[in-house]
Amino acid sequence: MSKHKSLYILWVLPTTLLGVFIFLLGGGVPIKIKYGVLWWRVEWGLLKKFWAPKYSGMTIGHCVILVDEKELDILVSKIIAHESIHVYQDEKWGPTLKIPYLIASVIAVIKGKHYYYGNVFEEEAYSLQGEFANRAAMILEASENVDIPDLFRRLKREGVFR
Ligand SMILES: [Zn+2]
Repeated sequence: MSKHKSLYILWVLPTTLLGVFIFLLGGGVPIKIKYGVLWWRVEWGLLKKFWAPKYSGMTIGHCVILVDEKELDILVSKIIAHESIHVYQDEKWGPTLKIPYLIASVIAVIKGKHYYYGNVFEEEAYSLQGEFANRAAMILEASENVDIPDLFRRLKREGVFR
């Protein structure tokens, strides 16, 4: 692991711990560390009952929970790309416990938009997930061990995404 990544892990740790807390309590099970992220699967409880029927993934810091863990076997699924963009966003916002995300939902509603699809964090993830999934797949074909939130950051810096 790069020094760079260790700093991001520390920087986003309070948010990641919130994720561990919510996912354990909500009925998630940690499955693996891949692409620089701790992936979880919905197993039981409130997440299974109320959240899983409507959504496919949720990111809180370096924790991402999936409804279908088979997404991780695809090179690279749109859902994995989408959640990786959220991990990148959480790395950017650090120990803010997803509060900026919640505020963005409130702003969306005030503007008369949908709380989820009109949230700027979701707008970024949805608009770039397809292109990012393709690029990440090409890069991952050449090297298996890529930190994909960091890859997204790099591509953004290089001006591939606006
Ligand atoms: Zn999203």
